[in-house]
Amino acid sequence: MGRSVGIDLGTTYSAVAVVDDFGKPIVLKNADGQTTTPSVVFFDPPNFVVGETALQSTISDPDRVVQFIKRFMGQANFRVHIGERAYSPEFVSALILRKIVQDAQNELGDEITRAVITVPAYFTETQRHATFEAGQLAGLQVMRIINEPTAAALAYGINRIASGHIKERKCLVYDLGGGTFDVTILSVGSDQLNVLSIGGDHRLGGKDWDDRIISYVEEQIKLEHNIDIGEDNEIIAELRLKATAAKRQLSGRQSVPISLKVPNRGGGPGNQSVPVKVEITRDAFNRFTADLLGRTEMLLRAVLDKGGMLWSDIDDVLMVGGSSRMPMVAEMIERVSGKKPTLHDPDECVAKGAALQAALLDKDEHVPQVAVGHVLAHSLGVAVMANGKPTIDHIIPSLSTLPCTQVRHGYTTTVDNQTFVQIRVYEGESNDPESYGKGPIGIFELDTTPARPKGRPNLSVAFRCDENGRIMAVAKDRDTGRESRLTITLQGSRTTTEANEEAQSMADAIVS
Ligand code: ADP
Ligand code: MG
Repeated sequence: MGRSVGIDLGTTYSAVAVVDDFGKPIVLKNADGQTTTPSVVFFDPPNFVVGETALQSTISDPDRVVQFIKRFMGQANFRVHIGERAYSPEFVSALILRKIVQDAQNELGDEITRAVITVPAYFTETQRHATFEAGQLAGLQVMRIINEPTAAALAYGINRIASGHIKERKCLVYDLGGGTFDVTILSVGSDQLNVLSIGGDHRLGGKDWDDRIISYVEEQIKLEHNIDIGEDNEIIAELRLKATAAKRQLSGRQSVPISLKVPNRGGGPGNQSVPVKVEITRDAFNRFTADLLGRTEMLLRAVLDKGGMLWSDIDDVLMVGGSSRMPMVAEMIERVSGKKPTLHDPDECVAKGAALQAALLDKDEHVPQVAVGHVLAHSLGVAVMANGKPTIDHIIPSLSTLPCTQVRHGYTTTVDNQTFVQIRVYEGESNDPESYGKGPIGIFELDTTPARPKGRPNLSVAFRCDENGRIMAVAKDRDTGRESRLTITLQGSRTTTEANEEAQSMADAIVS
């Protein structure tokens, strides 16, 4: 039947874990002997190289390497253009999944057919769906899409749960990865794990800290040598690798130099390369990234507020994600919370938690039985007219435990003899339809014949959302009994035609 695994499909690094015969989650090594694989793809169709080799290829072939694709998941208009072709974020993600699963199978000596895949807690349903499709495109049966912080908390909590003496604790997970920032507060009990509050920013992560180092180095080179390297893709690619490496070293050192050879276009004699060296101190680094850290601090506050909690309500603070290794993170958390955060298995715990969730779904009796509660990340609502202004009326609030159902009565028509109403479904917290850049996630119509004066029909809308985030909506005319249903078939980023074409390309792809 093949094995079930947990997959952490990260912005910068991905990992695969499996639960062993003793109920313990272990991360499977890739072909390079590493537990995590860079989420980077080098394009040479039909050959696609994923991982460290692709990452190193950014210097020689910056235009044929794709990184940080997770930041674009679910964006309908985003395509990666390489050569003649355009690729969707799902396709690129599927290549990464295929490679890491292939390597994991070799390590395991067994076929992998099913997977739980993790996403940031803050992902929308569209982004989750795009991830689901990427898994399918990679040939996996996707058992469930779960939140990364929930997976991390499950991996962290399971030992305490297994040892049987755990009082319910409130645990805050601070996950600062390569491209996303996620905060979640969970209650971890002896047989239950529940999400209490969620927040984050899916466009904030280690990459932004790297970008700041890159800008700083660019500026210093401009200042000291009057050379502008901003336009040079190859040098920027090299600088990006060096900036990331320097950032990591700064987690252990007070100062790190970056050396580069830059072409002297600044007016000097000829086109020779000039060696330049820029020293980056931890103080300078902390200073020119303070606003980024500040954004995570603000979001921490927002998540506590949203859950109606104070720092004194929190028992444990877990830091996960590679960027939590930056000393500034623990310092900030300690300053604002008065608690010592724990850096818990930051690279592997998400994959391990996903593997545990897969084992729980498989009813593996070696794993301590925990009921993992999943919640809706963003509110669901419909557009209505209120005082003559279009407004979003939220029907299922965010953080509702899944699966859930909610009915709202008392809707009606706004024009005399209106024979149909259009129901537009929105995902998010704002009340202003204009603020939803992507518009509604689903639209359907309800027949409101026979013609009646405005305000007379008595209409209701009900929503149901299952564990996998599938949303169903039913609108009803209570007077006539007529109803109209919509299963919101989230499209991810792709059209159906494109999905079919990509399935064919995937079948032809040689991934290594
Ligand atoms: P993701 O889940 O988004 O792929 P990870 O949790 O794997 O991300 O974290 C990757 C990020 O962590 C990268 O931006 C990487 O540069 C950063 N990182 C890894 N190790 C360190 C370190 N020692 N100090 C600072 N940043 C680090
Ligand atoms: Mg991660």
